Amino acid sequence: MRLRYLPWRRVKSWRCTACGECCSRYAVPLSAGEYARLVSRFGDWVVRLKLGRPYLRRVSGRCVFLSGRLCSLQGSLKPYACRIFPFLVRDREKKPRKEAEFWYGQSCFYVYLSPGCGEVRLGTPERWFVEQVIPEAIELHLNRSMPLRWLTSQAAPLPPEHYAGVGDDAPVVPRYVSAVSVLEQLSSGGTPLLRRRNRRRDGTVAAG
Ligand code: SF4
Ligand code: SF4
Repeated sequence: MRLRYLPWRRVKSWRCTACGECCSRYAVPLSAGEYARLVSRFGDWVVRLKLGRPYLRRVSGRCVFLSGRLCSLQGSLKPYACRIFPFLVRDREKKPRKEAEFWYGQSCFYVYLSPGCGEVRLGTPERWFVEQVIPEAIELHLNRSMPLRWLTSQAAPLPPEHYAGVGDDAPVVPRYVSAVSVLEQLSSGGTPLLRRRNRRRDGTVAAG
């Protein structure tokens, strides 16, 4: 059954926890350039053709690049379909939906999220989601090779309001940090925060 995409105005927030569900559930279509880059780097066993269209190969119902719950294909080699998921961004629509309209700069885009990701939370959109996450999805739509901060598993801390009521203001890395993302940040001069919250028995939280 095809899931209907949700207009962004119905979504409270979203973040990727690297659960790996989308990598098992969906076939990943490739552009001609992505197909060529992957074949030249890994060989043609990592791709397949279906009705003449290229996709990533799946093995035992999972993407061939899925390692545990994490993607082993990062940076510019990661297909656009994976980088943009669960977002869908359009420049125009035949029947424009007000709920999906998002003005960015001088242009109007139509932004949706797939309910196929369990981290898509319904409700009134949170400010950081509107100001940080959706604009990055639009930027990625306009420039497919840009580096990502929000549209990936979080090696960077989420804004404080995301953790409201958790216990303190220390920046946190969510549980499933992609080691590859951390290495990427290190090699690009960034400083990944490796602190993790450990809840003590008395309910307080310590950085570990
Ligand atoms: S996008 Fe959603 S379904 Fe895919 S790995 Fe991230 S949290 Fe899981
Ligand atoms: S390339 Fe990575 S993100 Fe995309 S489906 Fe495969 S494992 Fe998941």
